[in-house]
Amino acid sequence: MDILLLILILYTGLVVYCTGRIAQRMEKDLDLKTDDMKRAHQRRVDKKNELVAEKNLLANETHRIFTLYEITKDITKSLDEKTAFDIFQGKLREHVNFQECLLLDPLSEDLKKFQVSQEAFVFPLKSKEEKVGYLVVKGVHPKKHEIVTILGNQFALALRRVKLYKEIERIAITDGLTQLFTRRHLGERFVEELKRAQSRKTKTSFLMLDVDHFKPVNDQYGHLTGDQVLREVAGLIKENIREIDIAGRYGGEEFCVVLPDTDGKGGLYVAERIRCAVEEAVIHAYDTQVRITVSIGISVFDEDGKSMEELIDKADWALYRAKKQGRNRVCAFGIYNNNDQ
Ligand code: GH3
Ligand code: MG
Ligand code: MG
Repeated sequence: MDILLLILILYTGLVVYCTGRIAQRMEKDLDLKTDDMKRAHQRRVDKKNELVAEKNLLANETHRIFTLYEITKDITKSLDEKTAFDIFQGKLREHVNFQECLLLDPLSEDLKKFQVSQEAFVFPLKSKEEKVGYLVVKGVHPKKHEIVTILGNQFALALRRVKLYKEIERIAITDGLTQLFTRRHLGERFVEELKRAQSRKTKTSFLMLDVDHFKPVNDQYGHLTGDQVLREVAGLIKENIREIDIAGRYGGEEFCVVLPDTDGKGGLYVAERIRCAVEEAVIHAYDTQVRITVSIGISVFDEDGKSMEELIDKADWALYRAKKQGRNRVCAFGIYNNNDQ
């Protein structure tokens, strides 16, 4: 009985001991697993934070790109320099504090002053390699120079677009050989001038010029010389009219000029001045010198006609008379009207 009791006590003790050891072991394993899980969790938290930071960075960058896109879209909407600059200034003010913003020509004297004094941020606006202007931004914090530069570059693009648009517009209305207006553009301007003359009750003179015996010039000296003669005649016409007068190439060796606010007497005076200038000019073309003359017909709004078509017709008729009378002369439709038709 005693032995049985002893065995039971020993057995119980062994069970307690083993259970304790197993529990200890399990606890240790659990601790290890918990540590592993904690580390794995921390790694995930770190990764998550990293991703959140990256996401914020991307969101900021996207916002910046969209803002820039919106600004660029607005700035490039305009097709003239002043409006583009006004929009640019407005956009700049939305993002940057500054006192004043100026757009200066590369040759401006003020520019040198700002470049030397360093009282303002001076930024060159480049169109390809050429500097199209300078932005001078006063009272801007140096930290904001970067955004001014970015927006400034967008504005430079807009300026380049405006200049290209203007150039295309100019080419579309300019005769390639003589640099005078094309017949079509001259027609549009002529109609506008006639409307103005009608409403203001003023006169408008119309001149039609034709180079005398031009075919022999081509035949004798060649077409290249002929072309040079036409360029020179166009130059002489421009030199002898006012800024507001409209000169165009009607076709071939024929030119026309619209003289706003000019009556028949004034028209005759201008026509005679052009005729004399051409007669006196010695045209140097390549290795030859050419002398030519022009005949000019004149019609006047509103005494000779009210519409463009009528006035062209009458001036053409007067030109025909000038040719018939021996060329190198000016004839006004009004003089022959009702007399010598
Ligand atoms: P008129 O005094 O009667 O006007 O005689 P003209 O020889 O000037 O007149 P005509 O109409 O017989 O000749 C006009 C010439 O102008 C014929 C044509 O070859 C030439 N011409 C037209 N356009 C051009 C051009 O763009 N360049 C050159 N070189 N010649 C041109
Ligand atoms: Mg002709
Ligand atoms: Mg001719």
